[in-house]
Amino acid sequence: IPAVVTVVGSGTMGPGIAAVFARAGAQVRVYDVVAEALTRAEQAVAMCEGVLDNLGSNKVDGGSVSYTTDIAEALRGTEFVLEAVPEREDLKKSVLAQIEAEVSDETIIASNTSGIPITKLGEALNAPARFIGMHWSNPPHLIPMIEVVPGEQTSDAVRDRLIEIVNAFGYEAVLEREVPGFVENRVLYAIMRECLALVDEGVISERDLDTAVRWGIGYKLAVVGPMRLLDMAGLDIYTSVAGYLNRDLSNTDGVPAFISDRVASGKLGFKSGGGIFEYGEGDVAALRGEIVRQLTAVRKAMPAPL
Ligand code: NAD
Repeated sequence: IPAVVTVVGSGTMGPGIAAVFARAGAQVRVYDVVAEALTRAEQAVAMCEGVLDNLGSNKVDGGSVSYTTDIAEALRGTEFVLEAVPEREDLKKSVLAQIEAEVSDETIIASNTSGIPITKLGEALNAPARFIGMHWSNPPHLIPMIEVVPGEQTSDAVRDRLIEIVNAFGYEAVLEREVPGFVENRVLYAIMRECLALVDEGVISERDLDTAVRWGIGYKLAVVGPMRLLDMAGLDIYTSVAGYLNRDLSNTDGVPAFISDRVASGKLGFKSGGGIFEYGEGDVAALRGEIVRQLTAVRKAMPAPL
């Protein structure tokens, strides 16, 4: 694990990421342009540490997390930088250039972008060979899988080193060629498209859709991935079902009215107290706690991957 790690941008993702690196023994510096974001991050890191304690995750001595709004201080002597600022190409490019100006030639710079092409972001750097995608899944302190996405200019040494780092904190690294959205979100959005079409067409209620997918798909896929599931079901069965079903599946592009109508009326989900479902006072906090509790329980119950 790198001795000194800097996390640039500390919103939803930064604190959990910092907690995981610190747990593995790194001195982590969390940097943000907004001072209040750092106050919130300090509380969030403490909560993530509690979750990691509950998980019984290994704790290496020497790890720490510090907070600063001074970019030079955040980057001094750092060996590994993860950029986690908002998903805007122009902003990310300017932050990446700022980072490169402050660090040594050996420092690896990674981005947590959810899908902006790494090659494109790398254009902001003088040495794009040191730059790579490191896509954490939310919540980052609970999902032990990271997408490793080299750009066209990324060196093999940087790719291999990142995989080593991910494995060092006990996570699985998946290696991908860059495609829009990366693999995890492509699969998720394919599922979301069909789910929204089924609810929108009145085939099933919102609640029953969630139940069908949680048990029929989520529970099973957590143990048996799609490729193994095809072997389990039989490729002949897939052939006959896909033969009539694939052409019937939603292939709509754009955002369905089911979502855009809600967004237009300010219904954004947890953050606005209502979205597809309605949430009363205190419901969202309780749900968030329960989600973390259940994810922790499932993670603890999961043996080594098949
Ligand atoms: P966020 O908006 O919650 O937090 C971003 C933070 O960056 C804020 O605290 C903001 O003050 C700070 N910031 C803005 N400009 C900055 C600058 N110039 N220098 C330093 N800090 C700056 O965003 P997030 O949800 O944590 O997402 C961060 C990145 O991670 C995005 O690229 C996003 O696509 C990706 N990501 C998000 C999720 C998710 O579920 N939220 C999952 C995987 C990847």
